[in-house]
Amino acid sequence: MAPRYQRILHVDGDAFFASCEIALDPALRNRPVYVGGGRRGDGIVIAANYIAKRYGLITGMACFEARRKCPEGVLVRPHYNEYRRLSLEMFSRLKNYTPMLVPTSIDEGFLDFTDSPRVFGCCTAAELAERIRRQIVTEVGVPISAGLGSSRWLAKLATEHCKPNGFLEVPADGERAFLAPVPVKKLSGIAERRARALRSLGVRALGDVARLPLEMLRRRFGVFGLELWLLARGELHETLSLANNARTCISSATTLPWDEPDCEAALLFLLDQTERVITTFFRENLKAREMGVFVRFCNFEGVGRSVRFPSAQFEPRVIDPVVEQMFRELVAGQHQPIRQVCIHFCNFEPLDLQPDLFGEHPEFKRREMHHALEEIETRYGPRSIKSGTRLLAESQAAHLLGDKAKCPFVPQREMEIKVGQLPETLCENALDPVYEEDWLPLESDESRTGSGPLPLPRTWGRSTSRATKLG
Ligand SMILES: [Mg+2]
Repeated sequence: MAPRYQRILHVDGDAFFASCEIALDPALRNRPVYVGGGRRGDGIVIAANYIAKRYGLITGMACFEARRKCPEGVLVRPHYNEYRRLSLEMFSRLKNYTPMLVPTSIDEGFLDFTDSPRVFGCCTAAELAERIRRQIVTEVGVPISAGLGSSRWLAKLATEHCKPNGFLEVPADGERAFLAPVPVKKLSGIAERRARALRSLGVRALGDVARLPLEMLRRRFGVFGLELWLLARGELHETLSLANNARTCISSATTLPWDEPDCEAALLFLLDQTERVITTFFRENLKAREMGVFVRFCNFEGVGRSVRFPSAQFEPRVIDPVVEQMFRELVAGQHQPIRQVCIHFCNFEPLDLQPDLFGEHPEFKRREMHHALEEIETRYGPRSIKSGTRLLAESQAAHLLGDKAKCPFVPQREMEIKVGQLPETLCENALDPVYEEDWLPLESDESRTGSGPLPLPRTWGRSTSRATKLG
């Protein structure tokens, strides 16, 4: 009997932001709808529903261009807080169907679907997937598509293939045939540089990858090459794990309320932003080795630089002065007003703030303070308590309060559904399924050996930088 591998379900909201707007205002149904970002909601298109897409509207297009292409289209300003609420509603339903849910963005995630159909008394995975999709669309109001496969890459490709409002299962013996015509550029993790390197080997589609000798790919791309080769041959079997999805970068960009000629005011926004990002460090127990600052001017040109600390950092008293110094160097000699400031951290290490032999780490207090702040915010609402920097920044721009023009990534920690949190009845079944005799144990990340299923490349890691993922 063939070994038993994990089956992974990928779910993705269809034109999520536009679907949310339609869910909020049913009068928009059956009309071309697009959501416009920017300061007045007339910057660029950040999502368009499928009717609007038929007119040629795409994410990233300028709103005036969209209006020209589709004069009867309805332009809606974004309501990020509502999208976030609907996203949480969607994930809270999805979590009921799996022992492990790994959200990757506001409208996307992976579910361990190996035992779910059996646990829920369905004969096929398709039957349960359809049931879930129907439930989400009736109860939350947003349509989702889903794909099922034996790796995240494959499941995601299956979803893309059946969009919108569809489900596609790629059976284990049909993977190679399904993947053969798929262009490698469609895979997440393959950007222009890798695509070019693959083209130089004569590779355009995954079918070409399957025909190449493994050694060649391995020498050129390392582990990534091996995984690509296994995927193309239908032999990549993955174990879904939360650890696979570890953060690789945290970045945050703030478009200033107006083109700011005063550098000091812009610096204030940058420091406020840094403060918020550092709060994430405490929350997720991280410290960062590398940091970058980017400043964009009103002519849309920008300057940036990055720094690598001798050791990973998490303390504001170390980070803030460096941010300030980098910012001053970047804006020195510039005459344009500032439009946007960005901060970026990567190369993380775990933050361990345990008391040691010499007593408590001084930052232990700070973490406690962050926890207290978080608790206050949970109880009394966001921004019910604020730092001096924030207070100053707000006095610069009162309308930064409330529904901000920023994409609200739903933090993974809010949605990570661990096995123990499932209802008891489901837990029993899901945790203790009766496996066939020669079932292949699904290894955990720690026990992973060279021959076991491999983690996907780091590019899979999630980023809070939403610039390329909107829509
Ligand atoms: Mg989507």
